[in-house]
Amino acid sequence: MDIALHGIEKSFGKLQALKPIDLHINNGDFVCLLGPSGCGKTTLLRIIGGLENADEGRIQFSDRLIFDQAKKINVQPQKRKIGMVFQDFALWPHMTVFENVAYGLRAQGRKAEVKDKVSEALANVQLGEHAKRYPHQLSGGQQQRVAIARAIANDPEIILMDEPLSALDATLRDEMRILLQSLVKKLGMTAIYVTHDQHEAMTMADQIVVMNDGNIMQQGSPEDVYREPENETVARFVGKGAVLEGMHRQADGIDYLQLNHQTRLPLPQKEHVDFADGTMLTVVIRPEQINLTKAPAETLLAGTVKTVSFLGEKYEVSFTVDGSDELLFANAKERMAPGDQVYFNIDTKSIHIIEKDGMNYVE
Ligand code: ATP
Repeated sequence: MDIALHGIEKSFGKLQALKPIDLHINNGDFVCLLGPSGCGKTTLLRIIGGLENADEGRIQFSDRLIFDQAKKINVQPQKRKIGMVFQDFALWPHMTVFENVAYGLRAQGRKAEVKDKVSEALANVQLGEHAKRYPHQLSGGQQQRVAIARAIANDPEIILMDEPLSALDATLRDEMRILLQSLVKKLGMTAIYVTHDQHEAMTMADQIVVMNDGNIMQQGSPEDVYREPENETVARFVGKGAVLEGMHRQADGIDYLQLNHQTRLPLPQKEHVDFADGTMLTVVIRPEQINLTKAPAETLLAGTVKTVSFLGEKYEVSFTVDGSDELLFANAKERMAPGDQVYFNIDTKSIHIIEKDGMNYVE
């Protein structure tokens, strides 16, 4: 089911939680709404689900008009063919697992289908043997799987999930992420998943919608928003790295980003990078574009290590460029320590320019 939002707006008193939002989601896509706390992700999800009414705008599920403020159309949540999963599971404590999952089907009067549909949904989340238990007899991960079974038992075409894994510990979260991803694809649902965790969004999403302050900042594949952020907010919120501002300078036929009078970084030698000398630029440099070493060489820039994190297969190092306070992030194979003098060069082909003289730069 395609989902289209046109001019969706929502205020709570004086607070404009959603500025006019336009969004198109393709049938079968797994879409993550990603953004900092309070940016409006949950409000947008609840409006799509019908738990909240927008002040303005229109929502369509394929060619079916679900909500239209101007025409006073508002399809009830239970008639929208959606399933919903929340962070706190929201299970009925006095009902068995079976009855929890059966709840929606019974409410829709689909009594004849209850046994088959509930068994199928529980099998899909690998909980077939726990049908007679009560929620308090299950672990957190199992309770969340019951909530997922309940959401899919009605054969929804759309599943809406609000931070469904954030109450679980890290190992369980990884397991559940894989289960959810494969289940959504297997059942052919369109999924919208709210998270403030960029790792979760990067690993699960076909499309990421980055939100900030009631606006959509960018929509694209994880690769797009990571490699080609359209603005500084997206560059800083998605992925590690440095967002640097400086002046474009040319010397000896080479383009540089002049950070201050001592420090300049080489810029990509792309044919279309053809700025006048002195243009102010904002660029994003990701850790994998930096080659960091402890061995000095004349061609390398010097820096000082600030922090080191061991990530298993690599170390993540933050460091400042000598002569500047700018903090950069790099990956290293060897252990380094805060205060170490380090040397680096940058893969100049892939630096992404996001702003030119204060305006978004489109390549
Ligand atoms: P979080 O990740 O913390 O849940 P979010 O991005 O999902 O954040 P929302 O919950 O959508 O953000 O909230 C957006 C803004 O609207 C916030 O400033 C919030 O305080 C406000 N808000 C949300 N619901 C209500 C409400 N029912 N009444 C008043 N203000 C609300």
